[in-house]
Amino acid sequence: MDIIIAIDGYSSCGKSTVAKEVAKILGYTYIDSGAMYRSVTLYCLRNNLAPGGVIDLEKLQSQIDLIKIRFVYNPELQKHETFLNGENVEEEIRRPEVANLVSPVSIIGFVREALVKQQRDMGEQKGIVMDGRDIGTVVFPDAGLKIFMTASPEIRAKRRYDEMVAKGVQVDTADIIKNIQDRDRIDSTREISPLRQADDAIILDNSYLTREEQLEFVLKLAKERI
Ligand code: C5P
Repeated sequence: MDIIIAIDGYSSCGKSTVAKEVAKILGYTYIDSGAMYRSVTLYCLRNNLAPGGVIDLEKLQSQIDLIKIRFVYNPELQKHETFLNGENVEEEIRRPEVANLVSPVSIIGFVREALVKQQRDMGEQKGIVMDGRDIGTVVFPDAGLKIFMTASPEIRAKRRYDEMVAKGVQVDTADIIKNIQDRDRIDSTREISPLRQADDAIILDNSYLTREEQLEFVLKLAKERI
């Protein structure tokens, strides 16, 4: 029987790489919940809802139901891409401006409520792998398999740096380290749905594991539960 696989953990520790590969092998749908928070953040930036980095809560709340996020499969690239109100924003939501504002947007209760509802709807049929911060604790507390991923801060910063350079985005190592530390702090200390390991989650520290080793680890656990 199909299950829900929840993969939570800190920023830039490779959750999405593992989640995507596991989904592909099992024939499951991969859902990137971080892309949803990033899309709301991009919407704020584009509509001047965060002048000077301060989010206009009243305006955002009045527009939250206008923000429609979908994932559409791109057969050429063989992956799902994020669409915000009908526009492909997959590249834009990964930009540093979005990364710098996404954690403050993610602490807002009505934003989380709206996105968690959409995430639960997506999981109704089971057969999904969803990654994020609160998937095993809040979105799907009954998920069939919960993984909590972690890696050393230095390794995470290096991975993020390499990823940005590969995309041709100009970045500074110090800025990356700061962004990762800031997001970890805000995500773990926020009042609503903070990032934490679910009691029944299995830890995967991938600091020194290859992609194949990580994949094998999760697939073995998944197959025992399906
Ligand atoms: O996973 P990713 O790094 O793309 O997530 C971006 C941000 O979105 C996180 O730093 C966090 O602030 C927020 N997020 C969240 N809950 C989730 C997924 C992401 O608060 N389930």
